Amino acid sequence: MISSILPTYNRAPLSFVSGEGSWLEAKDGRRFLDMGAGIAVNALGHANPDLVAALTQQAGKIWHLSNLYEIPEQTALADALVANTFADTVFFTNSGTEACELAVKMVRKYWFDKGQPERIKILTFSGAFHGRSSAAIAAVGTEKMTKGFGPLLPGFEQLEFGDHDALTKAMQDPTVAAVIIEPVQGEGGIRTVPDQCLKGLRDLCDETGALLVADEVQCGVGRTGKLFAHEWSGISPDIMMVAKGIGGGFPLGAVLATETAASGMVAGTHGSTYGGNPLGCAVGLKVLQTIAEPAFLDEVNRKAGLLRQKLEGLVAAHPDVFEEVRGSGLMLGLKTKPGAAKVVQAGYDAGIMVVPAAQEVVRLLPALNITDEDINEALARLDQAARAVAAA
Ligand SMILES: *Cc1c(COP(=O)(O)O)cnc(C)c1O
Repeated sequence: MISSILPTYNRAPLSFVSGEGSWLEAKDGRRFLDMGAGIAVNALGHANPDLVAALTQQAGKIWHLSNLYEIPEQTALADALVANTFADTVFFTNSGTEACELAVKMVRKYWFDKGQPERIKILTFSGAFHGRSSAAIAAVGTEKMTKGFGPLLPGFEQLEFGDHDALTKAMQDPTVAAVIIEPVQGEGGIRTVPDQCLKGLRDLCDETGALLVADEVQCGVGRTGKLFAHEWSGISPDIMMVAKGIGGGFPLGAVLATETAASGMVAGTHGSTYGGNPLGCAVGLKVLQTIAEPAFLDEVNRKAGLLRQKLEGLVAAHPDVFEEVRGSGLMLGLKTKPGAAKVVQAGYDAGIMVVPAAQEVVRLLPALNITDEDINEALARLDQAARAVAAA
């Protein structure tokens, strides 16, 4: 008989009842060090007092308002995002995949309004992940994501990650409307796009007019030690998808865009009942105000250095289990030899949560305010897990 919850996930038999900072407590009383943070969502840890205050204060005022009216919390968060990024304008969603939907619509409408409706093609890269909606699975195009869900939304072409020649050639197609890229691939196995490559891609887009869309759903909001990951390369996109960390655990996403890229999205062209609701935006503003502080980002970079250095030591100590450390900031991956699933399971047994990704990589995406003490504890537990895997 089918379970009451649609069985689309292979869930671990772990059930959690409460959390604090980087720690989660299971029903049976066991405590786990959470190095996944809900896949980069709990950016400021569990039950963060500032976020609890922002949420509960707003909960006592207004929960929901239709976007038929002005929502002051939404305006405040949009203003703060515009002040801190390349963007001139923001649309709020409830998730990353909804941000992808709007990004695709925005790109198509831009070219339609410019009198070039044939420019519909959007380029993406192998290993990418942009969500689970019809547009997002068509964008990625892999059999794993799309099989049985056809017919797929047309107009996407996937290129090999890192194949510059293929990219240069594909960009010569006059129907290319945009390129969507994650500056650091998450699901794809923590693969960082080198700064040079992002710059080169920006140049190619400038030459052809194609819009550059950054998917920073996982790598954004302080994760790599800058507010947004593309900032490391000095370039900016035309459109950016954001979600995960921006809500600190409250479902919140956004599309940020320049005025030019957003020019087609006039009144009546898009909408969302819940997008930009007061609860999410009140929490999101507190998240952004905290993370955008230069002193906070300095600390993320310092802790990232500490964690990375310790992980290098872990890899050196367990050459049969780990191959390398990869990633940027507090978005790190360990390439495993016996397979990610074994390491994740051994982690559970050792009381630490890490997240599997493609290429047999396990991801470490801790809360950005993780303490040095918890980083040390994480390494002790990962060492214990690695010993168990090596002994098995
Ligand atoms: C998680 C993720 C998405 C999809 O976000 P949802 O909120 O799950 O819809 C899109 N892009 C990237 C890079 C992601 O990591």
